[in-house]
Amino acid sequence: MRDLVIIGSGPAGYTAAIYAARAELKPLVVTSSVKMGGDLMNTTEVDNFPGFPEGVMGPELMMNMQAQAERFGAELLFDDVTEVDLTGDVKKVTMGNGDVVETRAVILAMGSEYRKLGIPDEARLSGFGVSWCATCDGAFFRNRAVAVIGGGDSAMEEATFLTKFADTVYLVHRSDTFRASPAMLQRAKSDPKIQFITGAAVSGILGADTVSGITLDMADGSTRTLDVEGLFIAIGSDPRTDLVKDVITLTPEGNVRVEGRSSLTSVPGVFAAGDLIDPTYRQAIVAAGTGAVAALDAQHFLESDAH
Ligand code: NDP
Repeated sequence: MRDLVIIGSGPAGYTAAIYAARAELKPLVVTSSVKMGGDLMNTTEVDNFPGFPEGVMGPELMMNMQAQAERFGAELLFDDVTEVDLTGDVKKVTMGNGDVVETRAVILAMGSEYRKLGIPDEARLSGFGVSWCATCDGAFFRNRAVAVIGGGDSAMEEATFLTKFADTVYLVHRSDTFRASPAMLQRAKSDPKIQFITGAAVSGILGADTVSGITLDMADGSTRTLDVEGLFIAIGSDPRTDLVKDVITLTPEGNVRVEGRSSLTSVPGVFAAGDLIDPTYRQAIVAAGTGAVAALDAQHFLESDAH
């Protein structure tokens, strides 16, 4: 029987692990079998995480957080959680390899997953020109034309990064107002390799085996075809609640609901942190902060007289 299992290894999960391990709760962190470290593993420079005046590479930041958690005794399991039974005093967490871990408390920090456009051929051509990660796949598009879809910071970041490889980067956005921060928008707008196409909804992806173009429905009613070999989709993300959505109360936006500024969910002994609870800010530093909150709440729960 464990005291604490943490599901997720992004900034929320690892920060919770650092705090819980220092409180001698010997947490088990289930990291995911393929994507440990969370979304920052797919980014390049992180310039806004406090403590790094010259910036830090996303993967380096996450490896440091992992090392810091392990230094205090957090145990890592490189597997996926496939099922949870959270209702009783003893929670059961089932791993991909079939093992069941029993624990008195659980911190949920599963983060969010990339949104899909939901159009035909998106899944078929995924990995064959359709991508959600410029850092991972950008180098395949050296001297080619690519399109980035979206109008938020992710789209600006992806487009700017892709100019290292691609000849032309089309930034395609469905409206003409942007959610991106002024600084990142301006950086993309002033890059001569990036061409903005606004008022354009992607209606189709062309290509037999690999992407050869996309079709756009323009706001003025016309249709347009763009010859691109890469399509980078950067239209936001949704909280990864599949494991728990039937047993834990969610908010109308689909996040795990927590009480006030705490990490307390609707189930005693179950705490939540990071993008899973955050429809608004979704920053690494915010996720890390809520991870600390979750560890302190779990510690208090485990130390309370009732348990
Ligand atoms: P956002 O939710 O901020 O933006 C999503 C964008 O995608 C919007 O422009 C939206 O358009 C568009 N969109 C959504 N659904 C569709 C669809 N079905 N078809 C076409 N377009 C669609 O998500 P981001 O991932 O960009 O950013 C999330 C958070 O992460 C933000 O807080 C952001 O600041 C942060 N972030 C910070 C970075 C940094 O500081 N370095 C880097 C990347 C992200 P519309 O506006 O019309 O709804």
